Amino acid sequence: MTEIGHFIDNERVASTSGRNQPVFNPATGEAEKTVALASTEEVDRAVATARAAWETWSKTPPLRRARILDRFKMILWDRADQLAEVISAEHGKTHDDAKGEVTRGLEVVEFAVGAPHLLKGEITENVGTAVDSHSLRQPLGVVAGITPFNFPTMVPMWMFPVALACGNTFILKPSERDPSASILIAEWLAEAGLPKGVFNVVQGDKGAVDALLEHPDVKAISFVGSTPIAKYIYETGTKNGKRVQALGGAKNHMVILPDADLDMAANALMGAAYGSAGERCMAISVAVPVTDKVADALIEKLVPKIEALKVGPAADRSSEMGPVVTKMAQEKILGLIDKGEAEGAKVVVDGRGFTPPQGYENGYFVGPTLIDEVTPDMTVWREEIFGPVLSVVRRKDYAAAVDLIHGHEYANGVAVFTRDGDAARTFAHDIEVGMVGVNVPIPVPMAFHSFGGWKASLFGDHHMHGAEGVRFYTRLKTITTRWPSGVRSDPEFVMPTMG
Ligand code: NAD
Repeated sequence: MTEIGHFIDNERVASTSGRNQPVFNPATGEAEKTVALASTEEVDRAVATARAAWETWSKTPPLRRARILDRFKMILWDRADQLAEVISAEHGKTHDDAKGEVTRGLEVVEFAVGAPHLLKGEITENVGTAVDSHSLRQPLGVVAGITPFNFPTMVPMWMFPVALACGNTFILKPSERDPSASILIAEWLAEAGLPKGVFNVVQGDKGAVDALLEHPDVKAISFVGSTPIAKYIYETGTKNGKRVQALGGAKNHMVILPDADLDMAANALMGAAYGSAGERCMAISVAVPVTDKVADALIEKLVPKIEALKVGPAADRSSEMGPVVTKMAQEKILGLIDKGEAEGAKVVVDGRGFTPPQGYENGYFVGPTLIDEVTPDMTVWREEIFGPVLSVVRRKDYAAAVDLIHGHEYANGVAVFTRDGDAARTFAHDIEVGMVGVNVPIPVPMAFHSFGGWKASLFGDHHMHGAEGVRFYTRLKTITTRWPSGVRSDPEFVMPTMG
């Protein structure tokens, strides 16, 4: 079986740790490869390489750095299909969905190509008589990205294009579930002209993550994954003096007000709840229709659409939804549906008995599921299911819908469907959630804005990409300058004030 190894100094490097684990194809349930699990020594080697490369890369003009990223962007455009195939084979998502994530990642590369503009500082002439001040943003050094399985290319691309554009060198620790895409990306960056050691990949599990968290030469950590790990990464990284942004789990609600366009809301819910088998941090997993009348009408529209959804492998290009990522994920999701039913919810469309297409009987499929009459005391509402399961929590009015959302520990994304501009504006203003959609079910900010949730969905001070990304990957320096003008003054011992 082939072992997927590391990428250090612009080459594939076989692991020496002696540890690995299988990588499964979720559509067939077969392990076709293994992935290396790096030792501390292997992580140290990658960090040393990245530290050495930083000396030159940090001094390379931003315009030159941007041109390399621009060439990488063109490679991504040309080979998006190839990358999508690699993603689908290990993640399970459909081909078009995989291409979609490549495009969303590529948009961050497009943003980062503006590096010379993004890194412009500020200057004030005459902060005092004949004294000028200018501020600039400098790179941090070696920075690391630790990423989840659900977007093996988009999430790393939320991080490294901005980090590299700002003059940092990067170590990616991808998810061990779908590690192959990271190696392809690394090879394409090298092909685009990225100098050796600037972008490195170490495969691994907790061992590799801990080695990064403890290494004194790693100056910042960007993390995306589940909340317990995000919290651990934030606490350990900051304790070790690092800058950390750690994005966690989600439970995203969609409020459907009585004046909403119900056809629009039902169609939006289909994509938002079942796209990518619900394995998106911005998936809508809870529909909150306001009034029973709206709930009944919405469910009537949803049921035939859910029953018609085509579930199958990515190899079948007509599949609209693929399997979930692992056997463990499949069992967890099925168990949570059981629990919802046992706790009193009504399973309206049941994906538990789903029969996979012929030839894919061992794949990790879960049929799309709709659960009505869910209440806030139930496990299916409290926990992130991360599967193709949509819960319906009925609320009697707007205030009760808002209270429900505010009662959840997560606050990543939220949406409201209405024709009432006043209600939508009030909702967008008042709701305590990081990303809000108005008649938009998955309000993922574009690359030139920044991505991030609130509460237990993000630990740290910076969201990802956009202006926030540039701030995260740089530190501010302010230089105050006076040139001798021939007039010399005596030393001053009081706090300097300008003017
Ligand atoms: P995960 O937390 O299991 O893994 C994420 C990363 O952490 C992986 O690289 C993994 O190797 C590493 N890791 C796992 N256990 C670890 C440990 N004990 N110590 C140190 N490192 C560890 O997450 P996942 O299952 O890969 O991804 C799904 C989760 O990610 C969901 O909760 C989802 O909501 C979340 N997610 C959030 C966002 C967001 O923007 N907020 C985006 C995508 C995914």
